[in-house]
Amino acid sequence: MKKAWLLSLTLALLTASTALTRQPVGATVALQSAKSDAQVSAERIAAHVRFLASEKLQGRRTATRGADEAANYIAEQFRRAGLKPAAQGFFQPFTFVAGVRLGDKNSFHAKTAAGTRALKAGEDYMPLAFSSSEPAAGPLLFAGYGITAPELQYDSYGGAATAGKVVMIVRGSPDGDNPHGRFGEYTAPGLEIQKKTLRAREKGAAGVIFVSGEQSFKEDRLSRLRHDLNFLDAGIPSVVVSRQVADSLLATAGTTLADAEKRSASSAQPLAVENTSVEFRADVVKINGNGVNVAGVLEGSDPRLASQYVVIGAHYDHLGLGGPESLAQRPEGDIHHGADDNASGTSALIELARVLAADRSKIRRSVLFLAFSGEELGLLGSAAYTKNPIFPLKSTVAMLNMDMVGRLRNGSLFVGGVGTSPAWKPLLERLNGSAGAPASAAGDGAAARFNLSFGQDGFGPSDHQSFYVRDIPVLFFFTGTHDDYHKPSDTSDKVNTEGISQVAQFVREVVTFVANEDSAVAFNRVQVETRPTGRGFRVYLGTVPNYSDQNDGLKLDGVRPGSPAERAGLRAGDVVTKLANMPIKNVYDYTYALGELRGGEEIEVVILREGREMRLKLTPDKRQ
Ligand SMILES: [Zn+2]
Repeated sequence: MKKAWLLSLTLALLTASTALTRQPVGATVALQSAKSDAQVSAERIAAHVRFLASEKLQGRRTATRGADEAANYIAEQFRRAGLKPAAQGFFQPFTFVAGVRLGDKNSFHAKTAAGTRALKAGEDYMPLAFSSSEPAAGPLLFAGYGITAPELQYDSYGGAATAGKVVMIVRGSPDGDNPHGRFGEYTAPGLEIQKKTLRAREKGAAGVIFVSGEQSFKEDRLSRLRHDLNFLDAGIPSVVVSRQVADSLLATAGTTLADAEKRSASSAQPLAVENTSVEFRADVVKINGNGVNVAGVLEGSDPRLASQYVVIGAHYDHLGLGGPESLAQRPEGDIHHGADDNASGTSALIELARVLAADRSKIRRSVLFLAFSGEELGLLGSAAYTKNPIFPLKSTVAMLNMDMVGRLRNGSLFVGGVGTSPAWKPLLERLNGSAGAPASAAGDGAAARFNLSFGQDGFGPSDHQSFYVRDIPVLFFFTGTHDDYHKPSDTSDKVNTEGISQVAQFVREVVTFVANEDSAVAFNRVQVETRPTGRGFRVYLGTVPNYSDQNDGLKLDGVRPGSPAERAGLRAGDVVTKLANMPIKNVYDYTYALGELRGGEEIEVVILREGREMRLKLTPDKRQ
């Protein structure tokens, strides 16, 4: 599961008003029986979890050997269950930017009164992975913290002519890097560099030079070339230099780095560095990685309905040895086992393939089993599937996603996406109170199986979102978060395998219903509700950015009904290229631009629709 949404989901699970749903025995609605000879087996599930979360698979990071081994295992299990390969050898490959490396055209020259000096990549400076590749050249301008904060009457650029200059920026803010300080939103980890870079670009700078925050350049994370899938191209040449280099460049202006920093803390005025100009070129080569989804199909038994598909999905990738998505004290180097996230859902998927295949004669529509990769990196596998579906999305009647179903406690199960079809809530409540309950939970025969809580939204932190944005009803099963989330300690011994099998049995009954009803479940677009943003925007537009398809602009996967974006005439497929005069190249630009808007003030949005440029007027709502 992706990190950003977790908190709000947890809140939903804690505060959902749909508490234990009870139903009298006599009211149990007759459903087509989901029972067959094949019972969901907690032992089989436990074995799958143990293997997938084992040391051997090294945390299953997308495009690693561990992930490939997991994919092979899942394909083999699908084959044994009797599924047909939905793609060549059960595998649907996709590519993504997996890494970056230095190209051979990196250069950096500083011209001062003392002459021209060439700097060495890796020692004196380092290109930033999101740098554009055109050369930057111009006089040097020291722009302090590189922060423009009108609400604090603070502007590092202070009206200085910035166009054509190469700006030098230091880390942090006048308050240091205190996340709770006045400048907290400008120095947030993971956002500071992006925000400051985009600000410099907006100011017309020819290039950006960040000054390392570490005395020893090698200690600085920025000195190690690193990419962020959501920020692949900043549209401006960008590098980081060592403090020693910064010091020598400032010397011509008769100052030192330490003095310049002190000065920035008390005054926001930029400092033109006389007689000093720089010329640099960042050459960063993107390395493609190959991820693979595993896809197996169980053909429906009704010739009239077999060309329609119910998708059951779970992502099998995790964080490998850690990385930016890790929440561990030591975020890199240790195996992140991902037993709950999401060996649990994957094992349920495998077991469902086995028991549903044994039921094949009773299943009318076809069932497509999809084990996704690339989820942790940004729903890459499911987005790749919906972009290149194996079976037409028009014939895909529903998608049921299991992500983190391994920590069932007190029977508390969260089901998201309930608002995406009018069929869902009555069905789930009926099944929850029905005789299909496992013996352990059956009790007096009237007790509900789960303490269910519902989320309406089809947008969310996992792969079902990729289907929901294509107007497919979705459900998302989740047993809640815990202290081991995205840490090496998410291990198989902590997983409740009996709980996984209860969830799997529940999902099996939902699938059986969806696959067998005469008419397909109806789709419903969920009305606007408060959605988590992860950041405190002052405004609300109601756009749904596409995180995987970014080429010079921000593509929209949709707009929320009744939202300012919909009122403005924006729609799915539009590519936003400008928002209130700020150029938009990617989702970070967009996030940045959003932070600048004010509720109730009309702005212009420039979009590309089917290749044609259009200008729309949009008035953002104030966020409550
Ligand atoms: Zn996760």
